[in-house]
Amino acid sequence: MKESITEVINTEPNNSEEELARVRKCLEIAKELVSERSQQAGRNLSYHVTTFGCQMNARDSEKLSGILEECGFIREDDELCADFVIYNTCTVRDNANQKFFGHLGSIGAIKKKRPEMMIGVCGCLSQEESAREKILKSYPFVDLVFGTHNVFDFARLLVMVLTREAQNGKRATVTEIWDDTDMIVEDIPIRRNFKFKSGVNIMFGCNNFCSYCIVPYVRGRERSRSPEDIISEITKLADDGVKEVMLLGQNVNSYGRGLDTKITFASLLRKVAAIDGIERIRFMTSHPKDLSDELIDVIADTPKICRHIHLPLQSGSSRILESMNRHYTKEQYIDLALKIRERVPGIAITTDIIIGYPGETDADIDDTIDVIEKVAFDGAFTFIYSKRTGTPAASMPDQVPEDVVKKNFDRVLAKVQEISTKQAAKIEGRIMDVLVEDINRQDPSLVTGRLSNNLNVHFPGDESLIGKIVDVKLTQCKGFYYIGERIQ
Ligand code: SAM
Ligand code: SF4
Repeated sequence: MKESITEVINTEPNNSEEELARVRKCLEIAKELVSERSQQAGRNLSYHVTTFGCQMNARDSEKLSGILEECGFIREDDELCADFVIYNTCTVRDNANQKFFGHLGSIGAIKKKRPEMMIGVCGCLSQEESAREKILKSYPFVDLVFGTHNVFDFARLLVMVLTREAQNGKRATVTEIWDDTDMIVEDIPIRRNFKFKSGVNIMFGCNNFCSYCIVPYVRGRERSRSPEDIISEITKLADDGVKEVMLLGQNVNSYGRGLDTKITFASLLRKVAAIDGIERIRFMTSHPKDLSDELIDVIADTPKICRHIHLPLQSGSSRILESMNRHYTKEQYIDLALKIRERVPGIAITTDIIIGYPGETDADIDDTIDVIEKVAFDGAFTFIYSKRTGTPAASMPDQVPEDVVKKNFDRVLAKVQEISTKQAAKIEGRIMDVLVEDINRQDPSLVTGRLSNNLNVHFPGDESLIGKIVDVKLTQCKGFYYIGERIQ
């Protein structure tokens, strides 16, 4: 057994098929190892995956969970009680890093009491060399560190963790980080968090190199999945009861570049909309520079596509946008957003805005406020600029002092809230479709659902409604959500 394990984990696949064959072998080996450990413990081993950051990470976590369950682990809701805890990290902003390291320190204290507990760290932070070194040096109790490119290879890493003492007599941290990959491995086990909705990766990585952003360095070059694989996955999801899919990519509008088949994101959307059982389609994220008229037409003509587009602005100042390497001006953004509003009535437009980018002046903030007013955003994530080592913006002069950033942040946030509250109130009194997602956390006599335009609605109901699309009258606008009542 020992020899064959070593052989399997050391094989070097040359393509996605060979990789998948290795994944399958590793899954079999991991199953046996987990079963042995469960027998020794007299109970099933449990796992917990804690996810930081974006929808991409959430989807990766579902893959990790799927692999762990395939290997025989059972899900444990309490992170502190699990036998294997995985942290799927984010490094887009430094405060996410700080938060994570604080958390990791506290889990180290738990591991002292339960030395058999296994801890893994993956995701964007692990791809950063300095962060990785910090984990290995200051948190040596971590059992496994891997990155964003080898999530599909997790079964093999699991085998390495479970056999490391037998293999080399040590309990040292297993570390495997790939700099990049051009492989996309399909058919990995997945454990979805929701029965009725699912994220679907349509592409990985990013080629845009916005000057402030670390994503292209930690997620690698852009690669699109084949339309056949995407459609086959969504068809299976629909057969399994999924009604809503969220197509995921850092820049979905450039979907298809580099594929042998000539296909655009708009034509992929048409194919997805033709799948029986899929009733709602969302996507994230649209880069304004690549948003085509064809895409606007497809959204307008396809009721299954939700009336919501997330269109990150980043800044309203053309000067700052140029420095950010965003490839559009203030005026081009406004024209695009207003064109979308005109062609798709009722669509909600949300955005991301960074405040405090190097060199940003009051006049630049005035421009950002002007865009917020002209486009009338339905919602915005406002972020304080975070210096990411290795990005061009990190070494720019004129980093903005903290007190100025704070003042500008408050100004932008107040404007966003004023405008988005007005936008939300526009549909008060209407009857609209709601996909019911959960029991309301504060009041269990209510359920929580989502409108096509992405606003949340809370209304009286019970568990039997979860996963159903029902008509709800929007009785009371509460700023950024609604209270409603079901219309039978
Ligand atoms: N690919 C998406 C796009 O370009 O629209 C965005 C993905 S990024 C993970 C999400 C958001 O994080 C960005 O839109 C940007 O507003 C924000 N962000 C990225 N780098 C940042 C930084 N260094 N400081 C603050 N916010 C940042
Ligand atoms: Fe980052 Fe820009 Fe790529 Fe979005 S498009 S992930 S902001 S580099």
